[in-house]
Amino acid sequence: MSPLTPAQLDDGARDVTADVVQWRHHLHAHPELSNREEKTAAYVADHLRGLGLDEVITDVAGHGVVGVLRGGGAGPDGSGSKAGARTVLLRADMDALPVREVFDEPFASTVVDEDYPGGPFPVAHACGHDAHTAMLMGAASVLTDVRDELPGTVVFCFQPAEEGPPVDEEGGAQAMADSGVLDRFSPTAAFGMHVAPLPTGMIAYSRGNAYAASCVVKVTVIGRQVHGSMPWQGVDPMPPAADIVAAMGQLYRQVPAGERIAVSVGHVQDVGRFNVIGEHVTLWGTARALRASVTDDLQERIRRTATHVAQAYGCEAEVEFLQAVPALHNAPDWIDAVRPVLEDLVGEENVLEMPGGMGYDDMSVFIGAYGGVCVNLGAQDAVLDGEELRPAEGGPRRRAQPQPGLLRRRRRPRHRRRPPRPPRGGAPQRGRRASGLTRRLRRRRGSGAPYGGGSPRAARCTRAGRRSTRRSGRRRGRARTPPCPARQQRRAAPRARTG
Ligand SMILES: [Zn+2]
Repeated sequence: MSPLTPAQLDDGARDVTADVVQWRHHLHAHPELSNREEKTAAYVADHLRGLGLDEVITDVAGHGVVGVLRGGGAGPDGSGSKAGARTVLLRADMDALPVREVFDEPFASTVVDEDYPGGPFPVAHACGHDAHTAMLMGAASVLTDVRDELPGTVVFCFQPAEEGPPVDEEGGAQAMADSGVLDRFSPTAAFGMHVAPLPTGMIAYSRGNAYAASCVVKVTVIGRQVHGSMPWQGVDPMPPAADIVAAMGQLYRQVPAGERIAVSVGHVQDVGRFNVIGEHVTLWGTARALRASVTDDLQERIRRTATHVAQAYGCEAEVEFLQAVPALHNAPDWIDAVRPVLEDLVGEENVLEMPGGMGYDDMSVFIGAYGGVCVNLGAQDAVLDGEELRPAEGGPRRRAQPQPGLLRRRRRPRHRRRPPRPPRGGAPQRGRRASGLTRRLRRRRGSGAPYGGGSPRAARCTRAGRRSTRRSGRRRGRARTPPCPARQQRRAAPRARTG
């Protein structure tokens, strides 16, 4: 049997391109959050079963899907035997992010996850995992077509929860590795890619650590609840929480300048009210270090800072580090082995070496276990001008205008639009109706006012009343003010040309 050639794979890739685009559009329109990728996993599993893979395993560490394709080609020793045949793991992540879709494409997401912890959240494939999933589905199609010549086994690994599951759930690459399913096939290399804001078709890689080690930081500052009018009778956890956030921003001064670290608090959660000092405040953040060996030291500094600042105010601080993800390390040997293949694929001028970044990707778990490489694939309508990224002609794609409210709603079909407002002097006008999500959020908070308390209806009536007063004031003002004589003269005179 003739060996597999790159041209066969190129032809197969061209044949499947239109399908990949269509699959990606479908996935983009139906995004699911981490550990909730039920429909995405079913879509992938149906595709793999349709191809007739040797094995399709579902529900791996949640909604993970693993497909196995055993090739019929000879092994790498040239003897025609299958001895030494390799097993390559190709990985794509499937989950989306809790963010609002901002692009105005026909396949834009309007999905809202009502039940996700901390939600409801709008959901969008803002990180490109829809593209990763569709591309790996395409790779499965192409490689299945050449299975008789394929010199080894390919494990297609569709991973859930790369963005991190809810904090009280397990998930992601580590959970897939812990399941033991992948070890059954003894992969000899793992490959992954992530789309990036680089010119379309360009491939970038980092030699050494490409992504930082990361963990979730949870700091609970504990005081004693008291009414806001007499804070001295309790212990207020809010000021130390604010000081801890500020102090975290100074940690970089304690770490050598050559070390790349980042500590950020992105979410503050409290249990008080405008007039009640709550018992505790929880800070949620992330700590990153490009060199894994710095992580322990950084965590100790965070713990010490939080504990001592809290003590200074008579509070206590509990510090936890959760969902640790190791740094993604592209070993130089692997980069040297892979780079010629990348250059053959997209041309030498389109392969770029870049410094590592402070993002994370739990592909690091698979590369740490089996070896391999993770690269970035350019997916931006842009050109690289020196080190500057400029929009390509005809791109970037149009962006939807920002709209009020958390979610952008599609315009209702003409026949379903609300009737026009009654004319002045007709039925009394009410305040603008809040969006569905805003109403749900208000119901969840049990209040219509941002500071808690008060009824939504009362707030609406007050707003409507204020607007109505302004309107009637304007009407009265116009009626009483005499017309401006100079303006009337200007209107009457022929308009002069300016020179
Ligand atoms: Zn991502």
